[in-house]
Amino acid sequence: MYKKVEGVVVSEYPYEESSKIIKVLTKDNIISIIAKGAKKLKSPFFAGTSVLSHCLFNISYKENGLSRLTDIDILNDFRNIRKDISKISYSTYITELVTKVYNHEKNKNIYELYLQSLNKINEGYDPMVITDILRLKLLENLGIKPVIDNCIECGNKNYIVTISSYHGGLICQNCYRGEKIVSPKTIKLLRMLYYVDLGKITKLDISDLVKSEINEFINDYYERYSGIYLKSNIIVEKNKNS
Ligand SMILES: [Zn+2]
Repeated sequence: MYKKVEGVVVSEYPYEESSKIIKVLTKDNIISIIAKGAKKLKSPFFAGTSVLSHCLFNISYKENGLSRLTDIDILNDFRNIRKDISKISYSTYITELVTKVYNHEKNKNIYELYLQSLNKINEGYDPMVITDILRLKLLENLGIKPVIDNCIECGNKNYIVTISSYHGGLICQNCYRGEKIVSPKTIKLLRMLYYVDLGKITKLDISDLVKSEINEFINDYYERYSGIYLKSNIIVEKNKNS
């Protein structure tokens, strides 16, 4: 059966002398595709079969086996990501994360979130913030959403003093027992970023303190509750004001 599928290459392996096997994340599943001759520079499949290529793949589809690539249209090769080591490392990290979450829950919105994140990083938005927004949103898919609308202990919506990954959410003045205090802006931003439509972001004006507090909360939260361990490390470029 011939099929046209839209997706992003999430991994690639060499196969025989000149071919490649790629895995493509689509809205509905992850498809393994053999791209004959794709390792050759002259091959029409050379471009478009590397990791982080968003393409339309024409394939001879096999449900439980290896599909075969017959034609390819590149929609976006995320050129700006490929030029920047820090952007590459964030994108590699989210690719691995998204693949793991997708294997946990095959939900169509995961593909959309992934694509929106790559687009935003490619457009020049702060890759750390985009990665954190994606990680916040994936918590729902993982079934471990933090309590961010009221105090996790008593339900109080007012007098919130901090957020605690240990407790799993916001903490009010009455329930506060000496947890680390974060800036009120961090709490406000965490909620905003959780609910924001990633594709519609046009401006990210966040102070370094708030960014790092958000990042620390999410790192700690994932470590405690997600059970996900990734091989990729994020290489953070220092001295960059973005
Ligand atoms: Zn409380």
